[in-house]
Amino acid sequence: MYNPEMRPLGEARSAIREAFEYANKRKQEIGEENVYDFSIGNPSVPAPACVREEVERLFREVPPEKLHGYTSAAGAYPVRAAVANYIESAFGVPMSAEEVYMTCGASSSLTITFRAILQKGEEVILLTPYFPEYEVFVRSAGGVPVAVATAPDFHLDLEAIGRAIGERTRAIIVNSPNNPTGAVYSEGEMRALGALLKEKSERFGSPILLIADEPYRELCYIAPPVYPMCVYENTVVLYSFSKSLSLAGERIGYIAVSPHCTEKEALFACIAGAGRALGYVCAPATYQYAVAACLGKVSDLEAYRSNRDLFYGELTRIGYHCIVPEGAFYLFVQALEEDAVAFAARAQGYELLVVPSDSFGAKGYVRISYCVSRETIERSIPAFEKLYRAYRG
Ligand code: PLP
Repeated sequence: MYNPEMRPLGEARSAIREAFEYANKRKQEIGEENVYDFSIGNPSVPAPACVREEVERLFREVPPEKLHGYTSAAGAYPVRAAVANYIESAFGVPMSAEEVYMTCGASSSLTITFRAILQKGEEVILLTPYFPEYEVFVRSAGGVPVAVATAPDFHLDLEAIGRAIGERTRAIIVNSPNNPTGAVYSEGEMRALGALLKEKSERFGSPILLIADEPYRELCYIAPPVYPMCVYENTVVLYSFSKSLSLAGERIGYIAVSPHCTEKEALFACIAGAGRALGYVCAPATYQYAVAACLGKVSDLEAYRSNRDLFYGELTRIGYHCIVPEGAFYLFVQALEEDAVAFAARAQGYELLVVPSDSFGAKGYVRISYCVSRETIERSIPAFEKLYRAYRG
């Protein structure tokens, strides 16, 4: 009677949400301070003052019928123009408003992009470990996700990517800084990826789209990542203000189509068509105007760096293994047994809520989200020590 493909998606919560809901339940049972919830990537630092100031100004100065009314489907033109100007001045790419489509955050940018480019059975390359929703979104657009492992240090394995590309490949998603590993791909890696995609596009006679999912662009503890449009022509950048401005619940972001894309107008029309088919209508109006006034501003991201240093230092001192995250706000830690689901379940016994890597398309790790208060990390360390001793004596 109902769609059998949707029911399991609705009933089986994602592993991240599962751990998050369990943490909320435990907080009610034993008190917030006794639960160490590292499950979800909900920013813990407040939005910068410019957001509140601008929202207050908009409420004061803009007539409500304008402020709360529909905008054009692609976004209010001055907002799109402001985003294009920002990209041009920050990264040197000659963008125009016509190449910017405002969305309800990176998730909707992803669903719109897949729907815009995929026909049934066409493939999208996902690099493991990956943000779990990629798989859901590709499949629901009729596509086939093709998982390709990254190198042992979670950087790009170009040979493996090259082997996976075939005539049905329409796109590859790159997420740098990366959720869940914290890897930031170097300019050299990205340029090599661009060259590979160019070669394969020519070989198969149709452009392979580089989809750069960039909600963590500014959360970078090393040199900032190269702007993907600078290394490859057929690129779309999916940007979100969820993390950089701590606006995850407000649902605001954009798709930027490279001015160098093959048949750029057709691609943009497909994006607009997909936004329409999916019923987005337009991105939230107030927050379109608000972010346009805050482009280039960020929350106090230093808190994440100091959390990373503290947490990485403590966990490796205890004996856990993980790479130093170069960006984002996650540690990707080796589980102390082969089965990461069993390890995460055992961690729960110590009130530690972490997410097993299986749902990220990889085995043997857990993701620990450190966008939490410093005190939560400090208080959790004895529990991590006990967990370690339970395995290693
Ligand atoms: N892509 C990645 C890699 C993410 O980690 C997230 C959220 O955590 C998203 C996309 C979705 O972000 P948004 O809140 O903008 O939909």
